[in-house]
Amino acid sequence: MITNSIYGLTFEQLAAWLLDHGHKQYRASQVWDYLYRKRVTDFSQMTDLNKDCIDLLKKSFVIHTLSHHVKQEASDGTVKFLFKLKDGNLIETVLMRHKYGLSVCVTTQVGCNIGCSFCASGLLTKTRDLTSDEIVEQIMNVQHHLDDAGKGEKVSHIVVMGIGEPFDNFENMVDFLKIIIDQKGLAIGSRHITVSTSGIVNKIYEFADTKIPVNLAISLHAPNNELRTKIMKINRSYPLEKLMDSINYYIEKTNRRITIEYILLKDVNDHIKEANELAVLFQDKKKKVYINLIPYNPVDEHSQYQRSAQESVLAFYDTLKKNGINCKIRQEHGTDIDAACGQLRSKQIKKEKDKSINL
Ligand code: SAH
Ligand code: SF4
Repeated sequence: MITNSIYGLTFEQLAAWLLDHGHKQYRASQVWDYLYRKRVTDFSQMTDLNKDCIDLLKKSFVIHTLSHHVKQEASDGTVKFLFKLKDGNLIETVLMRHKYGLSVCVTTQVGCNIGCSFCASGLLTKTRDLTSDEIVEQIMNVQHHLDDAGKGEKVSHIVVMGIGEPFDNFENMVDFLKIIIDQKGLAIGSRHITVSTSGIVNKIYEFADTKIPVNLAISLHAPNNELRTKIMKINRSYPLEKLMDSINYYIEKTNRRITIEYILLKDVNDHIKEANELAVLFQDKKKKVYINLIPYNPVDEHSQYQRSAQESVLAFYDTLKKNGINCKIRQEHGTDIDAACGQLRSKQIKKEKDKSINL
């Protein structure tokens, strides 16, 4: 049985493949037009291609490999999709509505091995990496959902902030980015794409060298090693000094601004002391960083953490601002559904396990 989705090929890979199989390279433009602009879901609908070419594609690829499992819609328009992969694993994808457009948060791995102490995704260790087609397909499924609604809406922004550590699945993630920014396909503006990492230092260097002009976000969450190691064990392998060196390299090499993510955890990292330390850490690159203060989404299994009080959030924000640091408090989406990354998936898996135990 063929299980390779055609969404996994970059334009160049598809053109080379078609040529290898006796078809003209320009067919690649037609196929991409059908896939990403007309957004057909069946090779038979690619009626401008000759029959030989359609048959060859049918014989060699499928279009969709993901199936819808559960969909939750929040009152603010956020939609959370739980997809089933061809091997039965479940992944999450979220569609969010902003003033500036429609953004999709994609998953890059089934589970995550980094195991940050506050995160729902790390509760289930990594089963496997997603392939590039499985990452592209998440966006295509959401786009088809919008197409079905018939309002002419288009996904305009992507955040690689779903389940998994994208820099632990580097090559597939890079192929995915190449596919979605390609002008001949979805043509998502690279400045509308943000990849978030927990700080895998050697990959930050490698990513800077790829020169793919998307935004990079670093999940920092603490301004010193002692605290960061307590909440993110990855800090043992990649301590703050090394992380800061890689951030400096990225900024120098790309001349791009970097986003720093900072979840505010009540009485853990939300004191004025930490805000001042954070300001000192970025003192010499005020123009090159933007700090996102993120309200914590409580996770049942991590009851040691609570969301910071509103006064602490505002005091933290004011301290950064007084020190001339660009920052904002992130707006939340879908708070009436299982909004934290990995929550819907881990709850659904638990539910299905309980069901099978009760049988
Ligand atoms: N693995 C990558 C990307 C996925 S996590 C990373 O860690 O950066 C995306 C973001 O969600 C990270 O900044 C992560 O720290 C944050 N996050 C994880 N669990 C959260 C929770 N319960 N509440 C708020 N943010 C959370
Ligand atoms: Fe993995 Fe990111 Fe969650 Fe950490 S925060 S466990 S790196 S998904």
